[in-house]
Amino acid sequence: MTDKVLRIDVDQLANASLPKRVSYSQMSLYQQCALKFYFTYLGGWREPPSAALACGSITHEVVEHLYRLPTDERTVDNAITLLREHGPRMLKMNDYRPFENDNAMKTQIREAVENLFVVENPQEVIVNPDHLEMELNVDINGVNFFGKVDRFTQDGVNRVTDYKTGKSPGRFVDDKLSQPYLYSLAFKLQYDIDVDEVELIFLNAKEVIRRPVEESIMLSMGEKLAVMRADSERDIDASAWDAKVQRLCDYCAFQEACPARNALAPKPGSADSNAMLKAAGLNSRNA
Ligand code: SF4
Repeated sequence: MTDKVLRIDVDQLANASLPKRVSYSQMSLYQQCALKFYFTYLGGWREPPSAALACGSITHEVVEHLYRLPTDERTVDNAITLLREHGPRMLKMNDYRPFENDNAMKTQIREAVENLFVVENPQEVIVNPDHLEMELNVDINGVNFFGKVDRFTQDGVNRVTDYKTGKSPGRFVDDKLSQPYLYSLAFKLQYDIDVDEVELIFLNAKEVIRRPVEESIMLSMGEKLAVMRADSERDIDASAWDAKVQRLCDYCAFQEACPARNALAPKPGSADSNAMLKAAGLNSRNA
């Protein structure tokens, strides 16, 4: 929930531009806080990698490889073998190396992989390998949308599935469903496929959520995408972005350099602001 919204002027490069393609993550970040979107996509600042991100990425990799195996080979033992193969390899990557010795995170990954066999029987899931990590790239209401679907299955029901690690969504479940609903619209527009059902599998929480796809919800996601793009075009033209002060500010990597949180923060985009973010340990692809 947003406590207050402040319009913040920023220093933008004369040739500053929005990303050419819009993903669900971009839309979601913009809706959460436009200034945070500015720091990330216009300033090019990267939030420091987190154990949660490492956990999610490694789990997704293992689950994808498991579903690429023939059905009778999708066993817990083989899943753990895949984890032993891909886990250490991915923990050598720059983003994940800081968590190489994070045993709590490693336990979380192992539990997520094992729980897959609790929430469904992988040997009974019929999936075309081309429908794993399936890329979407389509115009939605004039916006160049792209996304990657964890799994699309057709077993009499056309279903878009997304795996999640971490805790149960609780009362935020509808927010989490926005992503597969938007993907359902992309499927319709790109492939003329009607998705019947969206599914979220919360591996650590051992929770499966399925909802039928209602056209009105699907279309409303496309409208939200168009609104987000139009609003961000307005922001870049004005060199001013809305800071939405809220509970999540406590976890925001930019809070020290955010004038809505820190009255002494310099103007975002200025040399002083950039120096402050660098001193806080952040890196920018524009720096
Ligand atoms: S601290 Fe809060 S208001 Fe400021 S950029 Fe981050 S999320 Fe937005």
